[in-house]
Amino acid sequence: MQTAVASARAILTSLHEVMASRSGAQAKLNQVVEVIGERLDSEVCSIYLLREGMLELYATRGLEQTAVHVTRLAVGEGLVGTSAANNETLNLAEAAAHPDFAFRPETGEEKFHSFAGVPIVRRERAVGVLCVQHVDPRRYEEVEIEALQTVAMVLSELIANAELIDEEDAAVAAHLTEPERLKGLTLVKGLASGVAVFHQPRITITHVMADNRDAELQRMYLAFDKMREQIDRMASQAEFGVGGEHEEVLQTYRMFAYDEGWSRRIIEAIDAGLTAEAAIERVQQRTRMRMRQIDDPLLADRMHDLEDLANRLLRIVSGQLGTAASMGLRQDAILVARNLGPAELLEYDRRRLKGVILEEGSLTAHVVIVARAMGVPVVGRIRGLRGRLREGDPVLLDADQGVIDLRPTPALVEAFETRFARSRERQANYAAMRDLKPVTKDGQRIGVLMNAGLRDDAALLALTGADGIGLFRTEFQFLVSATMPQRERQTRLYRDVLEVAGDKPVVFRTVDIGGDKTLPYLRHNDGEGEENPAMGWRALRVALEREGLLKVQARALIEAAGGRTLNVMFPMVTEPWEFHAAKAVFEGQLAFLRQRKKLLPETIRYGAMLEVPALAECLEELAPHCSFLSIGTNDLTQFLFAADRSNPRLAERYDWLSPAILRFLRRVVRTVAPFNIDVTVCGEMGGRRLEALALIGLGIRRLSITPAAVGPIKELVRQLDVREITEAMEGWLANPPGNLRSQLQAWATQREIDWD
Ligand code: PEP
Ligand code: MG
Repeated sequence: MQTAVASARAILTSLHEVMASRSGAQAKLNQVVEVIGERLDSEVCSIYLLREGMLELYATRGLEQTAVHVTRLAVGEGLVGTSAANNETLNLAEAAAHPDFAFRPETGEEKFHSFAGVPIVRRERAVGVLCVQHVDPRRYEEVEIEALQTVAMVLSELIANAELIDEEDAAVAAHLTEPERLKGLTLVKGLASGVAVFHQPRITITHVMADNRDAELQRMYLAFDKMREQIDRMASQAEFGVGGEHEEVLQTYRMFAYDEGWSRRIIEAIDAGLTAEAAIERVQQRTRMRMRQIDDPLLADRMHDLEDLANRLLRIVSGQLGTAASMGLRQDAILVARNLGPAELLEYDRRRLKGVILEEGSLTAHVVIVARAMGVPVVGRIRGLRGRLREGDPVLLDADQGVIDLRPTPALVEAFETRFARSRERQANYAAMRDLKPVTKDGQRIGVLMNAGLRDDAALLALTGADGIGLFRTEFQFLVSATMPQRERQTRLYRDVLEVAGDKPVVFRTVDIGGDKTLPYLRHNDGEGEENPAMGWRALRVALEREGLLKVQARALIEAAGGRTLNVMFPMVTEPWEFHAAKAVFEGQLAFLRQRKKLLPETIRYGAMLEVPALAECLEELAPHCSFLSIGTNDLTQFLFAADRSNPRLAERYDWLSPAILRFLRRVVRTVAPFNIDVTVCGEMGGRRLEALALIGLGIRRLSITPAAVGPIKELVRQLDVREITEAMEGWLANPPGNLRSQLQAWATQREIDWD
């Protein structure tokens, strides 16, 4: 056997001749199997192509000619069908031993033992299979498989040019014209409709076989230079100084970018006769195949880096630069991606971006946190989605139910429109309530504030009529940056937010990073992951250890709030000393800035978040030193129930409306009552009507909630009599009924209070 390069090159040269000949498509395929069979010294070489949903034997050398256009296999049937269905290469010494083997007597293949099948891929989908067979039971060498894979790439171009498969109507794509409903995981609730837009538009490789090897090499070298320059620039722009943890990440990235093995393999593929684009893709295919066999999450991460780099290289070399965001959205769009970074999401035009579907994604993914803040519904965990729809396909996204409808029927669209209209009507009613005060029927003023994290969120204060921002998650700015935001950038953001908020208060929470909100540029010293990140090195724990980080933020906040009140709160306070230590950092900066005669805030109000149950036992010690307390029920409940808040399997298991949670909260309210400080609930719980009802019944008078919930909660408050609900809660907590939720529902229904 010659080297893969030599065999592939020899085959490609011959294929060039076949392609240039004037013969028809079928004759060309017949010649192709001869060429490949001869060059690879293979007894059988066959090409199966998709036609009307079936893989049809189109050409063969070695099998019975009478089987051509007669033998047909469904996708997934037999070895050929398996290779196409899974888009994977099979290399078997004994074909019949494989569980998917399907014997076709008309082909006369019983005498052949070994089998290798390589999918012929077009636009990421298998449209056929190229296979070879031998009498000897032997596995094919890697070089042989690689030669076959290279040839399969060329075949895909040949087949498309000869219009042997109808690309629109090809069988695997046949389902792409049918309506299809897929179920995923709700990540951000809401309804949306639009056309599918792929975040990473597919790079179309139009030419696989190169005319001029040197020109291809030249293009490839230039693209490598450009890509390396980009990576180096990224590294040098890192704002965290030299030697920071982010360096480690960027260094790995650089290591790949400069990896000689990688560029050498691409050069080899170009040497074999491929264009630069095809060569990059070819090498990537091989890497993917190898990685698939290794089950190691760390390697999977590295694979992700490598895919990123390969895509970057492909975009540079093909001149098809940019994501869908850079091309602009032309109509209402549902964005489709395997995964996204938060910054990438923010690049899209908010007016046109209606929804997001991710093949991966989890509730705590940064992109999801940002999408929630943007009010964009998201459904995640729909594997293989990009293979099931095409750009421009209409999509209905019902993130309330975690369902998407691809290419919906008119009846589905109509039903969706009705629900959508109802939901919009409700929104309009809420918007009309923005100037109404959230005062209960018996005259209690409830504070309804909103949670925010992005610069633009502040504008929602006016739109919703919220009383202020009760939780500004400052870590969002960190999450959406590729590098640590410098102090000036932080100051600018805080100042902008305060300006838009005007007279309304804004509570800035110092960064809650670490744990599940990891930053690529802030890594652990030991570089190792944590088994329980939510209970790990996060929030104030990071900030107190990385004092520089907190100092910079303190100074940015103090400077931004010059001449006004600064409300600052610390996340994940577990013991009072942590609060004091964080406060001391602020006081230190205050003294420093005073010396420098800077304009200082009129007052600084310090608050602690109560998210760790242990702090509830120390409130008497802490409360005299705080101006306010904010209860983060998202974390608090996960710690009380010992149930990971991001684990979808536990999402429905425990109820916020349980005596355990409610009694706990009531005790907190009672403990701090003598200290006369504000107590706010700022977790998601407060934004749900029934839960808000219960919280008010416990004595909570301030809720900070997601902006979309401000209207519904105001409406609820205005229907409520605090004395009544307080009394009812007392009764239920003294003697908990089997199902507190249904009791509350019945209670609200009786009083004609909307709770859904
Ligand atoms: C919480 O834990 O309830 C909270 C508001 O903080 P976050 O969701 O940002 O952790
Ligand atoms: Mg929290």
